[in-house]
Amino acid sequence: MGFVDRFGAMHDSANTPDLLRPPAFTRRFRAGLGRALDAILPPRCPATGDIVDRPGMLSPAFWQDLTFIAPPSCSCCGLPFALDLDGADVLCAACLAEPFVFDHARAAVVYNDASRKLILGFKYGDRLHALQTFTPWLLRCGAELIAQSDVIVPVPLHRRRLWLRRFNQSALLAHGLAKATGLPCLPAGLQRLRHTPPQKGLTREQRRRNVANVFQVTPHQQNKIAGKRVLLMDDVFTSGATLNACARVLRDNGATAVNVLTLARVTREDFT
Ligand SMILES: [Zn+2]
Repeated sequence: MGFVDRFGAMHDSANTPDLLRPPAFTRRFRAGLGRALDAILPPRCPATGDIVDRPGMLSPAFWQDLTFIAPPSCSCCGLPFALDLDGADVLCAACLAEPFVFDHARAAVVYNDASRKLILGFKYGDRLHALQTFTPWLLRCGAELIAQSDVIVPVPLHRRRLWLRRFNQSALLAHGLAKATGLPCLPAGLQRLRHTPPQKGLTREQRRRNVANVFQVTPHQQNKIAGKRVLLMDDVFTSGATLNACARVLRDNGATAVNVLTLARVTREDFT
């Protein structure tokens, strides 16, 4: 059974230094308790709490409110298009005006009231069992990007926010995908050097400036990034400013490609 350390890094017990591991008794107790609860309690929808047929399933009423993203979309940022424009490499107006540093970004669902509720529950409400819902979505929408990647790296949280929240939701998503794909995960591959104010309400340019020089590749992890095709993961693609800043430092440290995979994506300027 894995665990998340104080930096938001998810560790597999087998590869974890003893100092970072909880005591063996605690690990066995947690694993046993989890299995016992799974056996006793019926599976519940991670959004509504309704009883469902199997773990990871959403209640049918809630499912209807989600919008899954399917082609056609911008070849770079993944913004869904209403019309199918001819050609696989069509870019949206924003990408034509100011290209991102990353190669391609894909997301499973549109960020709307329903997906926001689901993600906020995952982020703040300890509804970690929602990973059983999210990982299959990421496998489906990110299949092409996963096939072109060597290593998974999550967007890091600042230590202060990590302390408040207790875990990095992006690292958990990355760990879930790594387990499902067999790709290695570098949960501490990137570091956030300072806390940044929330991006909500900022213009695209303000967001870009807000996250400039905020990230770095963790010094002892540089050799694991150089020459690799990186799959960068976060929960929500908003303006792309944070992901772009992360992609820049990954590129500067020798990543040969950076693709982005998120659970949800903002598609309207006002829904941030
Ligand atoms: Zn685009």
